[in-house]
Amino acid sequence: MRLYIIDLGRCNVDKGGVLTPGSGDGVRIDIAIVGYLIRTDDGTNILVDTGMHRKHVADPLATHRGRPLAEVLRVVMKAEDDVVHRLRELGLRPEDIHILISTHFHFDHAGGHENFGHARIIAQRECYEHGLATNPPTRNLWDLPHLRYELVEGDVDVVPGVRALETPGHVPGHQSVLVRLPRTGPVILAIDAIYTKENLDTDNWRGYPDPARAQASARRLVELARREGATLIYGHDPAQWATLRKAPAYYD
Ligand SMILES: [Zn+2]
Repeated sequence: MRLYIIDLGRCNVDKGGVLTPGSGDGVRIDIAIVGYLIRTDDGTNILVDTGMHRKHVADPLATHRGRPLAEVLRVVMKAEDDVVHRLRELGLRPEDIHILISTHFHFDHAGGHENFGHARIIAQRECYEHGLATNPPTRNLWDLPHLRYELVEGDVDVVPGVRALETPGHVPGHQSVLVRLPRTGPVILAIDAIYTKENLDTDNWRGYPDPARAQASARRLVELARREGATLIYGHDPAQWATLRKAPAYYD
């Protein structure tokens, strides 16, 4: 089993405004937008998230134009940051992806879903139904007739060694992923259950729509990591990002 960490661009954000309210308010930082590819020994290709839609290369304001978020969060995307381009660098076409684990439907995690009509898409039912009920302007990124969703409830083994973990708080039905690698050991992809190490260190969940559930989900992941001896990869931590091995290199 191999884990590839895929660079899908940047957002320049107001640190306090987006990640850690009360710490770094008004300070601009770049955060990475990330996807993950898991390749199993029997040839199954599992993608986790699809980054931002390629339309942001030509038009960074494509999603947030005219809304306050446009200033809080500025998209910085190059043509090569498109998930299809990044997969091609690894010798893969979109139709080579068998399973897409969709952690949640925000524009920086589900922007490339339209390319994966061949894949089984694993999403939490609560997340999907919340997405439909709130009807966000970004719904057209992921609510498409050719996409094949498999809605799950709670933690599920996707394939042996890859487990989806329900971690609400950022959104209802958000999910993280546990990957058991033969040499590296277990790795937990927290995604937006934990934006940065600072959120953990300062126990600051005020930037989350549901801080109490976010805190509970984060504590659960920390406890799981401790019990399993797992490495925690945060969703958007610039300091940790700098230390991670990126595709085409991989962890095994
Ligand atoms: Zn995110």
